[in-house]
Amino acid sequence: MNNKESALVLFSGGQDSTTCLYWALKNFSSVHTLCFTYGQRHSKEVEVAKAIAEQAGVPFQLLDASIISKLSVNSLTSDITMDQEKPAGSYPNTFVPGRNLLFLTFAAVIARSHGIRHIVTGVSEADYSGYPDCRDTFILSANASINLAMDEHFQIHTPLMWRDKTAVWQLADELGVFDIVRAQTLTCYNGIIADGCGHCPACKLRKQGLDSYLKIRK
Ligand code: ZN
Repeated sequence: MNNKESALVLFSGGQDSTTCLYWALKNFSSVHTLCFTYGQRHSKEVEVAKAIAEQAGVPFQLLDASIISKLSVNSLTSDITMDQEKPAGSYPNTFVPGRNLLFLTFAAVIARSHGIRHIVTGVSEADYSGYPDCRDTFILSANASINLAMDEHFQIHTPLMWRDKTAVWQLADELGVFDIVRAQTLTCYNGIIADGCGHCPACKLRKQGLDSYLKIRK
């Protein structure tokens, strides 16, 4: 990694992107954050993200991507009830079709305007509901397409790609930000920071990883 370069982190104030923010701060000389709004259920997410970025001393940019919530109906962008489990043979209704491709494209355009060529995103194949746009093959393909589209040499980094939630907690700990991630991030679908509501799918996944990490933590 070239420490003299800058990186743009796709940042939501959740456990994953906050871990990515601190990973980027360790690996790059300067870091910017980009946060998307798109009819999230809780505008609190934005406040949380902004506060974490401020504390980390990095610029925080907010981009209105609410067009995405007008394109299709799902539980992250509307008031319909969220699937608690993945329905057999399909994606859960928390899946927002095209989201990561749009977000990465927006991020690359913004990065380019800042002269930044490294983009960091917290997507992972290891632990999730199998969203197609969280897979490594998709990221590699999007990276190639975005570079061709703009005749640039962006590098998309996915430090969490092969880490399950236990390993994400471990990474936060190695980066010295375990307490920040645990106490200040918002992952819960019901908008409760830190350990959250405890019963939504995001809280369950987060807690499972935390419990298993605490067992092996030195
Ligand atoms: Zn929750």
